[in-house]
Amino acid sequence: MCELLVDLLDVDIKGVQGTHRGRVTIHFECRREVVGCPECGVLARVKDRRAVSLVDLPMNGRQTRVVWHKRRFFCPDVGCSKGSWNEVDTRIAFPRLLVTDRAGRWLTKQIGKYGRSVTEIAEELGCDWHTVNDTLLRYGEALVDDDTERVGLVKALGLDETLFVREGPYHRQHFSTQIVDVEHGQLLDVVPGRDSKGATKWIHERTCDWRFHVAYATLDLSGPYRKVFNDTLPWATQIADPFHVIKLANQKLDECRRRVQTELFGHRGRKLDPLYRARRLLTMAAERLDEKSHEKVMGLLRAGDPRGEVTACYNAKEAVRELYGVEDYELAGVFIDELIRDMNDPSWPVEVRSLGRTLKRWRDQIIAWHRAHFSNGPTESVNNLLKRVKRGAFGFRRFRNYRIRVLLYAGKPNWDLLTTITPR
Ligand SMILES: [Zn+2]
Repeated sequence: MCELLVDLLDVDIKGVQGTHRGRVTIHFECRREVVGCPECGVLARVKDRRAVSLVDLPMNGRQTRVVWHKRRFFCPDVGCSKGSWNEVDTRIAFPRLLVTDRAGRWLTKQIGKYGRSVTEIAEELGCDWHTVNDTLLRYGEALVDDDTERVGLVKALGLDETLFVREGPYHRQHFSTQIVDVEHGQLLDVVPGRDSKGATKWIHERTCDWRFHVAYATLDLSGPYRKVFNDTLPWATQIADPFHVIKLANQKLDECRRRVQTELFGHRGRKLDPLYRARRLLTMAAERLDEKSHEKVMGLLRAGDPRGEVTACYNAKEAVRELYGVEDYELAGVFIDELIRDMNDPSWPVEVRSLGRTLKRWRDQIIAWHRAHFSNGPTESVNNLLKRVKRGAFGFRRFRNYRIRVLLYAGKPNWDLLTTITPR
């Protein structure tokens, strides 16, 4: 009866300890009598026993420990070099893990698939945070990295930067690069840093077939990622992500507003300053402003922008947005060339001219979007997932922890494999 309840195979239950509704501890030994030497096959002899305590799944809602009275064997053959070794039964637990196999697989799913936190699971099992985290890494990395089918052929590949931790007294930022199948919104991997090194290495590790299949490469307006694609996937059409292009136009508008504010009023924007009051309305999409708001923006600009500089930036931003309303690829090319030429006019404020130069530098990538509507949009949604995971984990100190958590959550691992994988 006790064996049925404990549900471990081929074990003799030696005793159960615990108080009513308190933690329960179950002692057992393996039943298998005949154990051969792994090297020469001679019947092994028992040298001694050592008790190993393992965290198990709660039984009847009580935190549970199983204590495995492990045998230590030795080979009686004098000519054999094996010496002695510990009993192994991976149906109970894998070597070097402090958690039973069934608890290890369970916690990997709870954290990886359902997004529960390591702290929460450690509390439920009544064990240390590190015990849970170490187990998660070993099962999780096996699930993600040993599955050669997880990263299938990709038609459109995207790179995006994410902040994964702020560290130390100065909140030094640590960035990572996420590699995404933007067609299917699947996070393929994350690599440390936002320079070109990590992603270049990752892409080089794929097969030639895989790389030749990538036809589109999406990126924000960052030089390092352009270099990654130039170096590793020169045949892929690069597409600048529309979200980042518009974001840049809005940044220039903000810079201009702050500069004009300081030049005209001699101080940073305050609650009553017209430009400061207009700051949110300015960066909103024009068609989202109703008539009253539109009047308000124009009024505030007349009051706070006598030289018309902020107004020029505002119009430039709207023109960039209009580019994405142009459906035809050829027309988009004509549109952006005119825009670049207009913005180059020396009478415009520096922010407009700087925006124009960036558009010029990224012209082909920007209008490539009009040919194939791939964007980092799905990457942004992956980003939102990451934020959720990060909130649950209160930030990540180590990149390895971060990587496995986000890949289990957003990398679409094959959860059917969880029952058969061998932890690393
Ligand atoms: Zn032997």
